Amino acid sequence: MKVDNDAILTCGSCEIEGPHELLYLSEHLCASRCANCGKTQVYSGHIYTEYARDLAERTTHLAGKVAGQVLRSPVEIVKLPFKAIGKPFGLLREVNQVTSFERSRRLSPSRTRSR
Ligand SMILES: [Zn+2]
Repeated sequence: MKVDNDAILTCGSCEIEGPHELLYLSEHLCASRCANCGKTQVYSGHIYTEYARDLAERTTHLAGKVAGQVLRSPVEIVKLPFKAIGKPFGLLREVNQVTSFERSRRLSPSRTRSR
C-alpha cells in the first residue's frame, strides 16, 4: 500500500489542476482525492478487498521472513512480541487512510445528487 500526496492531476469535478492524493493497493491505483474540492474517485469497487489482498501479500512475506529467522535461531522467537508491537499502529494508520478514501467517496456530492 502506498499513498502519494504529490500527484498533480486535473480534477474532473472542479476542473482545477492541482495536488491529488493517490491510493495504491497491490501496486495499482485504487483511489484519488482532489485536494481542492475533496472529490474522491475510487477505481476499485471493493477498496477493502483490495486492501485485504495487499495486506495478505505483505503478511505472507513477513510470515516467511519470521519463520526463516526462527529456523536459523530459535532465540529470535523471544523478540517477536516486541517487534510486533510497532505493527498495529502502522496498520491502524493504513486502515484509517483507506477508510478516509472510502468515506470521502460516500460523502461525495455527485453521489448524493438527486437530479
Ligand atoms: Zn476538485
